[in-house]
Order: sequence, then structure tokens, then C-alpha cells
Amino acid sequence: MAPGRFEMQDIDVPEPGPGEVLVRVGGAGLCGSDVHIVHMKSAPFPFPMTLGHETAGVVEKWGSGVKGLERGQRVLVAGIWGCGQCRACLEGRENACEYWARRSPVPLGPGLGFNGGMAEFMVAPARSLYQLGDLDPVQAAPLGDAGVTPCHAINLVRSHLRGDATVVVIGVGGLGHMALQILRATTACRLIAVDTDAGRLNASRAHGADDTVLSDAHAAATLLQMTGGLGAQVVFDFAGVSPTLALANAVVATYGALVMVGLGTGSLSVVADAPPAGAPKWGVTLIRPYGATSRDIFEVIGLAQQGKLKADLERHPLSEAPGVLTALAEGKVRGRAVLVP
Ligand code: NAD
Ligand code: ZN
Ligand code: ZN
Repeated sequence: MAPGRFEMQDIDVPEPGPGEVLVRVGGAGLCGSDVHIVHMKSAPFPFPMTLGHETAGVVEKWGSGVKGLERGQRVLVAGIWGCGQCRACLEGRENACEYWARRSPVPLGPGLGFNGGMAEFMVAPARSLYQLGDLDPVQAAPLGDAGVTPCHAINLVRSHLRGDATVVVIGVGGLGHMALQILRATTACRLIAVDTDAGRLNASRAHGADDTVLSDAHAAATLLQMTGGLGAQVVFDFAGVSPTLALANAVVATYGALVMVGLGTGSLSVVADAPPAGAPKWGVTLIRPYGATSRDIFEVIGLAQQGKLKADLERHPLSEAPGVLTALAEGKVRGRAVLVP
């Protein structure tokens, strides 16, 4: 793809260089971010590029210096490829890689600067592969972003997630429906799902939501009424458009946390004043997480292996990629669409 253009093309099977592995792709998930990338007027990446930052598959072969792999092993490919040598990378926080922080507005990865997983084969640094054990690569592909990004966001506000806390999850699409499952599996909080799509709200009960609220002009009043006028201890916004940011801001409780994951180009103004009309309440923590750490990736794979985290999937042949991306942009994908070569 290149900005504004997304099409199928034949390219050669890449050769893994030193420290790299050739992965035979089993499944490649389509993310809301892919829609943003295709519609960017210019992007901070070299083009043309193969999209796909949410990939699982099997090890095919490897370059020099790679140890300990076997052909056929099932692996999840991390969606961010840090330098591997800076302090953040050595701590397993490639999402905060210092090399990329000096050079790029976002840390790069497959489908985000390097050729990604919407292909039959991809080359990845050996360091970026996580063993999946018996998990099916098609089913596991969404773990690579829709699973790990919410897991990271949740772990950043762990101290707010006490048993008596209320959590509002705005946008229960690809990332949001995984967030609900992770929250359900790892906390005793009351979970309220919010979306504009009634079908997604219905499905969210099976993902762990205790209550659902339609995202409309009454949503803030309804959520405040459901929380005794105080709001929710944590609000996750997986849409990131101005109406959801305003809603999140209106319903986050004093000393709560507002976690902005969605990149829908919305804005939220933060005013330093008292009493601040429309500004976040006193003590609110505002976080804008990106991607996930190694620790989050291991946790998500562990939850999936225990049967506690499973994406709702639509499987599509790789050849249908452009049409599936359009369907995702039009809000017609429920759960996650995975391309299968
Ligand atoms: P998706 O399209 O599957 O889900 C988005 C959901 O938001 C849908 O269910 C949609 O109905 C809902 N929504 C839209 N407008 C709404 C509104 N006004 N009120 C309530 N709900 C609304 O997309 P996705 O793949 O889950 O991605 C979600 C967002 O997260 C995208 O913006 C994507 O770019 C971003 N993202 C961020 C990171 C990160 O690291 N920060 C990583 C991955 C994705
Ligand atoms: Zn993504
Ligand atoms: Zn680094």
C-alpha cells in the first residue's frame, strides 16, 4: 500500500537475513489503524509497504545467528519492532524504544514501516516472535494487537481496578471486545460497555459486560445515574473521536483514570482552572498508551491458552483484503476480521 492506495500485488518471497526468521503467515488481522494508515495523506513510513501488524503463523526458516527455533513452530509476531538495544527495549518495552523516539512519531513495526503480515510470508526479527504453543494461528492473530494493546492499557491503570470499581469501555469493536474479556478475567470490577452499534453491545455481554449503554446524547447522564452521580473509576476510549472523548471526560470519576487508546483524531481540551468547566475532574489521570510490552504479550497468550481470551472472528481469504478494509471502515466488521492466505 501507499497513502490512499491499497491493492494486491505479487512480490517475491523475502529471504531472512542475520537474526531474522521467515514466517509462513497463518492469519493477519485488520485493525482500525490500517484504515487510518490507508487514508493518511502522508505517513512517516517508506512506501510501498505490505500492511499487517497483527500476525500469527509458523516458522519456515531463519537466517544466521538465530537459535532455538524449530520449523513449524506456531508464533505470534509482535507489532512493534524496537532497536532491541536501548534501555526500553532491553526492559521489554519496545513500545517505548528510544531509537524510534528520536526518529519517528511512532515506533515502527510490521505494516507500520516494514513489510507486514498481509501476505503468504513475512520476515521478522527473531526477537519479535512469541511462542503460541497449541493455539491456532488464525484464531491467535488478533492477540497481536487487539489483545495486547488493551492488555497494556489495562495494566497501566491496574491500581484503579479494585473490586468495587466501575469501568466504562467505550467502543467494543476489535480492541474493545478483547478489553472486556481481559478485564473480566483479571478483575472483579463492574464493566459497562458503550457503543453506537446495538449489535456490538448485545455481543459484549458474552465478553463480560455487566451493563451496556448506547452511545448517544443521553449516554453521559445515563452513566452518571448508574454510578450514583460519581462516574467510573476508569474509562477506556477505544474510538478516540471527539464525542467519545467528551463522554469519557464527563463520566470519569474524581481521581479516576481516562485511557485514550483510540486514534480517531478527536480532541479533548484540558483547562487549568477552578472550577474548570468541561475540564477533567480533580485528580484524573490521563493516559495515551501505545502498543504493548513483552510482559503484556506473554499475559495475553497465557489468557488465550487458558481459554479466557478469544477474538470473535470473521475469516476472509487474503485476496479479499481491499474489500474487507472497506467493510471495516464502514463499521461492518464485528469483532476482528482476519485474512487467511
Ligand atoms: P473497530 O472499528 O473494530 O472498533 C471501533 C469501535 O468504536 C466500534 O465498535 C465502533 O462502533 C465504536 N465507536 C465508533 N464511534 C463511537 C462513538 N461515537 N461512541 C461509541 N463507540 C463508537 O476498531 P479497532 O480495531 O478496535 O481500533 C480502535 C481504535 O484504536 C482505532 O482508532 C485504532 O487506530 C486504535 N488503536 C490504537 C492503538 C494504540 O496503541 N494506541 C493500537 C491499536 C489500535
Ligand atoms: Zn492496530
Ligand atoms: Zn530500542
